[in-house]
Amino acid sequence: MNIEALIRPNIVALKPYSSARHEFTGHGEIFLDANENPYDTDVNRYPDPLQLELKQVISELKNIPVDQIFLGNGSDEAIDLILRIFCTPGQDEIMVLPPTYGMYQVSADIADVKVKKVRLTEDFQPDLESIRQSMGENTKVLFLCSPNNPSGNLIGIEKVKQILGFFNGIVVIDEAYIDFCPESTTIPMIGLYDRLIVLQTLSKAWGMAAIRLGMAFSSADIISYFNKVKAPYNINILTQRFALDRLDRKQDMRVQTDEILNEKYKLMALLPSIPCVQKVYPSDANFLLIKVTQADRIYEALVAEGIVVRNRSKEPGCENALRITIGKPKENELLIQTLKSL
Ligand SMILES: *Cc1c(COP(=O)(O)O)cnc(C)c1O
Repeated sequence: MNIEALIRPNIVALKPYSSARHEFTGHGEIFLDANENPYDTDVNRYPDPLQLELKQVISELKNIPVDQIFLGNGSDEAIDLILRIFCTPGQDEIMVLPPTYGMYQVSADIADVKVKKVRLTEDFQPDLESIRQSMGENTKVLFLCSPNNPSGNLIGIEKVKQILGFFNGIVVIDEAYIDFCPESTTIPMIGLYDRLIVLQTLSKAWGMAAIRLGMAFSSADIISYFNKVKAPYNINILTQRFALDRLDRKQDMRVQTDEILNEKYKLMALLPSIPCVQKVYPSDANFLLIKVTQADRIYEALVAEGIVVRNRSKEPGCENALRITIGKPKENELLIQTLKSL
């Protein structure tokens, strides 16, 4: 597959900014090249533009080479770069499968890139026939979210393979919630499909939403374009250090995700017996989508008790649906009690 044919021509031709820390990579002792303040504040030097120390740790964790990793200011930066690398404004389009994560559409709107929407089926799986029919010559990128937000389910791996079989553009699989079902990651498929981009994040299971660190995994070819287009020092040193420290304590994350999943199973058992709850959708993530009798009223009633959930009832296929993040045991208990009392 010729990746270059999928890249915007101006990005292929782009001569990227070359920073001081990029141009000199040898061993120096006296740094007079970047106009920094020479006095030590712990953060007076520019950070590594390619974050190689952090990528080395992620490489071992995810079992993928360093040159196939991009780190962004949240996955949202990776989504934005995908739009800018592959889609010519006013000409190209992306495809999304609602109900799904809202940032794909927003990033496309900002970039002046059209969005084709093909609804997921009733059980929130891709409708392959409609996808195939709706695709055009200018469809450059297809965004899949797995586990999908807000429905919570994984996209079937066979569906993904079939899509990669008939669609020759870029396929993005957003795996923001994959640490709650790690055996289902599609990272191993990157070796088979160099047009596949897998997104993950430290914002959910890893418990680091505030440091803003998202990851994109793909072929070395595609990652080289991310590096070409990104801001020179896009990940600050505080984020890099914090992530290194926490990633070293992987066991803490596993203990917490196990606890969260246990709580999810508890909620899945309790919720169906509550009168205002009509359906609990299957979930591979750390949240549950539930169908209730009157979403707006129940949402407000929960807020009145200080419990904030996400009202998703305006989303296609989500009529009267609330999305509930799994909290700590006490918080979940309070949620159940409050729902019972309505
Ligand atoms: C939460 C979430 C993200 C995470 O975005 P960050 O910018 O990494 O915090 C990405 N995709 C989906 C589907 C999400 O739900």
